[in-house]
Amino acid sequence: MGGPVSIIDSHCHLDRFHKRGALEEALQSAGDAGVDRMIAVGTNEADWEISQMLARQYSGAIFYTVGLHPSEVGEDWERQVIKVAGFFQLRRNRPVALGEIGLDFFRLPSGDPEKAASIKDLQLRAFRSQLEHARRLDCPVVIHSRGAYWECIEELDASGVNWERVVFHCFVEDGEAIRQINRRGGRGSFTGIVTFNSAEQVREAVKVQGLEKIMVETDAPYLAPVPHRGKPCQPAFAAITARYCGRLLGVEETAFAAISRENTEAFFGL
Ligand SMILES: [Zn+2]
Ligand SMILES: [Zn+2]
Repeated sequence: MGGPVSIIDSHCHLDRFHKRGALEEALQSAGDAGVDRMIAVGTNEADWEISQMLARQYSGAIFYTVGLHPSEVGEDWERQVIKVAGFFQLRRNRPVALGEIGLDFFRLPSGDPEKAASIKDLQLRAFRSQLEHARRLDCPVVIHSRGAYWECIEELDASGVNWERVVFHCFVEDGEAIRQINRRGGRGSFTGIVTFNSAEQVREAVKVQGLEKIMVETDAPYLAPVPHRGKPCQPAFAAITARYCGRLLGVEETAFAAISRENTEAFFGL
């Protein structure tokens, strides 16, 4: 695999590809596009073991994380969080980060404030508990924040986790927002959204953060960049987002690929 450029997709959901028998094909097109390393990010207990198995099978190319996604938090969250912590006790083939965890207030039931409040409360409890594990483990943390940007910052500040090990994935806030994260030592990573016409504030955030901490991701199978917008996304498209961000920052394609790759490898300790 790999051509002249070598790119890491720092956040994708490879279990979805595996489940419909499309993984080999996705890895093939990723390789053709120069995307030769991927981080399969966890959302709930159903995908953790699949990703772990893929990381074993494609050792050195696929890495994985475990975490309970805010939209996956239910009444059984405590049991799942105990399981998350257990993965970090493994001697071999351990997760490279805890995540994705956070708060998602975007999809709360409208018209039922009581239900919404109880969902928020469950999300908060699961987030705090996982942040406590992250602090104790001192591991990288992948944050999912939607409609809850400031709330996530507050929780992270209160948790005592090392901000240097924090990434807000799929960053869609503006320049001032990423400044707040960078100032604390954290970073944002960028999906294909940055290529959308309407995403001027996300492009601003890329420029404010600059090259030093940049990482790119697809969040595949979601969020395909232009010109594939609206179609299923795949890890190969990390090359499109990387090329786009490189141009935005005035860096040549291979140089950008090398920098974002080094950043990602250093952040996750690959
Ligand atoms: Zn997410
Ligand atoms: Zn994701």
